[in-house]
Amino acid sequence: MHEVTGLKEMRAWSRAERARSRRIGLVPTMGFLHEGHLQLVDRAKQRADRVVMSIFVNPLQFGPTEDLALYPRDLERDRKLAAERGVDCLFVPDTAAMYPIEPLVRVSPGPMADTLEGATRRGHFVGVLTVVAKLFHIVEPDIAVFGRKDFQQAMLVRRLAADLDFGLEIDVAPTVRELDGLALSSRNTYLKGDDRRAALALSRALRAVEQAWRGGEADPQALQRRGMQTLAAPGVTPEYLELVDEQIRPVARVDARTVVVVAARVGTTRLIDNVVLGEGVAGDVSVRGS
Ligand code: AMP
Repeated sequence: MHEVTGLKEMRAWSRAERARSRRIGLVPTMGFLHEGHLQLVDRAKQRADRVVMSIFVNPLQFGPTEDLALYPRDLERDRKLAAERGVDCLFVPDTAAMYPIEPLVRVSPGPMADTLEGATRRGHFVGVLTVVAKLFHIVEPDIAVFGRKDFQQAMLVRRLAADLDFGLEIDVAPTVRELDGLALSSRNTYLKGDDRRAALALSRALRAVEQAWRGGEADPQALQRRGMQTLAAPGVTPEYLELVDEQIRPVARVDARTVVVVAARVGTTRLIDNVVLGEGVAGDVSVRGS
């Protein structure tokens, strides 16, 4: 596996590969890899000839009270996992290279970023879309793969690519979960003792909504109430549970494409999850351990 830290070197590597007619796939991450990240690599390998994985904990997307300094990091382990999974080029820029000066020009994400994660984490999606735009310019991929685990982010990245004519394909991969339903996340490492069990309230709430919908309940407010009841378990502080469409608008009519999105705090850890009603939690990918 090739490893690059410089922006110019990264672009040169990509351009050399493209000159050989190779399709390039990009998997952007913040590292501390788990099976969810690695399945994005599998998809990228199916859809491209060369796979670049970026690892960059982007300060621009963390609020002043968030976990930037504490965010888990283990480059040694990530390097090994990425190489084993067949990543061709690991791009690990440092903050000074990505932001030699504080960027004055940033991507404005528009109304899709005003609610849910964007409402709780002010400025978060400006930071996300700005770094994603930079990565697209540096790596110049033909396709980039994102996880549906971060549903609002994935939909915003799709609009970024379409609205600003990046001319690349955005592929959105299903959520990878542990066998008991917990969606894999680098932040799960913060969950100790009872918190690990309490965290199951998120996927349980999604299942409760899905079951009620399959049972014939079609009223979005009734479905939301049903989910909230399940989410409000001991040790869990619910933040939101909503039924939205691909433009992150609350739905008036529920159908198979409706997405139930949820966020809650478990101890000091903030977790998010979602399900597409027609696919169901069981339609996601389950893996043993992580
Ligand atoms: P992160 O390192 O958390 O920024 O995530 C990098 C990419 O991995 C994003 O596109 C995430 O949506 C995706 N991802 C994170 N967790 C999962 C998961 N459990 N299943 C699928 N994709 C995931």
